[in-house]
Amino acid sequence: MGFLFYVLTRQKKVALPCGVCRGKGFYICKLCNGNATLEWSPLFDPVAMNPCLCPTCDGNRVQRCLNCLGNGYS
Ligand SMILES: [Zn+2]
Ligand SMILES: [Zn+2]
Repeated sequence: MGFLFYVLTRQKKVALPCGVCRGKGFYICKLCNGNATLEWSPLFDPVAMNPCLCPTCDGNRVQRCLNCLGNGYS
C-alpha cells in the first residue's frame, strides 16, 4: 500500500504557460509600444514635443509580464 501512495503523490504538477506573454515572461512595453521613448511635452505644445526615455521600460522596449511576474507560467 505504501508503494502505491508514493507513486500517486509523485505525479508532476502541470504548469501552463502564461497566456498574456505566451510563456516568455515579458512583452513589448505597452506605454511606448516598443519605441523606448515617449513624445511628451510639459507644455502640451505639439511644436515643443521632445522624446524622453520611457519610464515603464527604461528604454528596454519590453516590460516584465504583470500576469506571471516574469515567470512565464500562470
Ligand atoms: Zn516603454
Ligand atoms: Zn506572463
